[in-house]
Amino acid sequence: MRFESNNSMQKHVTPPQRRWNVGVGLRSLSLSLVVVAVAVLTPNANLAPAEAQAPPPSVASSLSLASAGLGPVALNAIMEPGTLERIARRIRDERWKLPDDPAAWPIEDGKPVVQTQQLNELWHTILPGETLKRLRQMYRLNNASLQRLNPGVNLNDLSPGQRIRVWERDPDTFSKSYGAANRGRLFNGEPLPDSPYYRILYPHRAFGTYYTVSEVSRVLNNYGKAYPDSEPLMVGDISFRVGRKIHPHASHRTGRDIDISYPRKNAAKTLRRFGHVRRNELDAKKLLVILKDLLDGGHVEYIFIDRWHQRTLRAEALAQGATEEWVDRVFQYPAYSGGDAIVRHARGHHKHFHVRFACQETDRRCR
Ligand SMILES: [Zn+2]
Repeated sequence: MRFESNNSMQKHVTPPQRRWNVGVGLRSLSLSLVVVAVAVLTPNANLAPAEAQAPPPSVASSLSLASAGLGPVALNAIMEPGTLERIARRIRDERWKLPDDPAAWPIEDGKPVVQTQQLNELWHTILPGETLKRLRQMYRLNNASLQRLNPGVNLNDLSPGQRIRVWERDPDTFSKSYGAANRGRLFNGEPLPDSPYYRILYPHRAFGTYYTVSEVSRVLNNYGKAYPDSEPLMVGDISFRVGRKIHPHASHRTGRDIDISYPRKNAAKTLRRFGHVRRNELDAKKLLVILKDLLDGGHVEYIFIDRWHQRTLRAEALAQGATEEWVDRVFQYPAYSGGDAIVRHARGHHKHFHVRFACQETDRRCR
């Protein structure tokens, strides 16, 4: 089965406001402290290194001359001892910060404000052997709805290669998660938009709430743009269009759960299904980028990651300067179970990680 999203993408209205911008461009603390000092001493300077290049002449030029060993002014003469350390600590704290409360998605007229792209239609290309009955099962549609979506098409005579419209946005409503993740259902589920940066394994099982598909496409597209040469990630199940039981999962019933393949150091055997990722095959640097972006979005409730992969990730975070507080709040490891960390161990997550998004105000009896 091939997935086709036609070009009816709605571009986002405003880019998502991230929780913090300061220091986002900083890849590591090994960045020259002098650049940092210049940026901090410069009024209104953004801490992104690129923009810290053109400070006002006075202090900055003496600093850069001093740092180049050319000027007569030593750094210690300009700054009190300990200042650089304080600045470095502040930047580290900024970069490794977690929101105290989950973010509430902005709502306008009772509807979520659209912050990222979303689909208006979903088309399915018929594969050999696929029948009307199969189509109904996959997309949880009855004959009447399918016919309404495809006026004039004889649905009893489908041929391979034929494109059938299987979903259309209803502008009067939007997706709602209902009930508990392992018991509930999904109203007006919407499909995850396609992207060159990830593969949707089963499009008919990739329906979620707007919040879920929006955050997933934001984070995975960011990742893909940051690592354009990386193998695309695989996106597995979210939910059926209407939610409810989806074999073999206990959860994935309300459009708030999603499975995503791990970035790996070696090539995957196939991009058609999740494959085992050994401890030394996990690309912890890249996974940490995804994890941080998800956490910065502020809409994640839990992330399930195998315990041993957590260990690798936690070590990577510490090596990059994460605070003890951050790793303790984020990772359940070294504990086996319990606690209130966001990233938790659950069996069966050595091939993929699982993200559960938090309930939003517009969801119903969500828990
Ligand atoms: Zn899952």
